[in-house]
Amino acid sequence: MENFEVYEGSNDLPVVVSCEHASGFVPEELNNLGVSVDELNSCNYLFDKGAEGAYDFLVAKLGCNGIKAKVSRLVIDVNRDLDQESLIRTSCGPHSFNGNKGITEEEKKDRIEKYYLPYRNKLHNLLSDCEKKHGVCFYFSIHTMENCFEKERREMDFAIIYNKGEKVAKKLGESLEKKGHVVTYNNPYTLKKDIIRVTHDSEVMKFNEFAVVVEINDGLVNDLNITESLFDAIRSVAEDYSSQK
Ligand SMILES: [Zn+2]
Repeated sequence: MENFEVYEGSNDLPVVVSCEHASGFVPEELNNLGVSVDELNSCNYLFDKGAEGAYDFLVAKLGCNGIKAKVSRLVIDVNRDLDQESLIRTSCGPHSFNGNKGITEEEKKDRIEKYYLPYRNKLHNLLSDCEKKHGVCFYFSIHTMENCFEKERREMDFAIIYNKGEKVAKKLGESLEKKGHVVTYNNPYTLKKDIIRVTHDSEVMKFNEFAVVVEINDGLVNDLNITESLFDAIRSVAEDYSSQK
């Protein structure tokens, strides 16, 4: 199976949206990674709760191109660099994934070629196509974060995480704050690496300047207000740019 599904929009806005942690699907031949179905389903790393719905809503309403993953990040995390340890996680809380722990170099290479590279390459193509058409491409990677973390409730509606894309992050955040949302920046975590990851095509690295990760509080993600506000904020970032051209 292919590890991505592309949404083809009318592309009137210079925007691409993605959802790396949309799916909790683990291919049958991987035997639930060596744990029971219940253990697998109880792992908060399996997928981002509610992220796929938010992504579906955004691409349809923005009419932009989008890409979402079809395989769980526990098989291989397309949102990591190839040299990061959490690329293929070996545990979740008390549960050890024996199917990932003992993975051979060959099996790892197989997962990279089957699930990782096709996703990253397709995303890079979408960004390049968008830039060719519009002269710029704003990229939003949509995630959800846990509402309750280590027994404390997270107070923010959105966390905007960025590295080189500070300008876009601030514009997006201002627009969300104007609607009364609580927004944090590079909190609860920061990026160690760029958002656009190098695979074979270093050309795409230039898109990092226009790239941000948006984490939606998963306790609020099904609230239409939240996704509507995010849609408005993304649209205003793109339209502001167009009007300044
Ligand atoms: Zn995520």
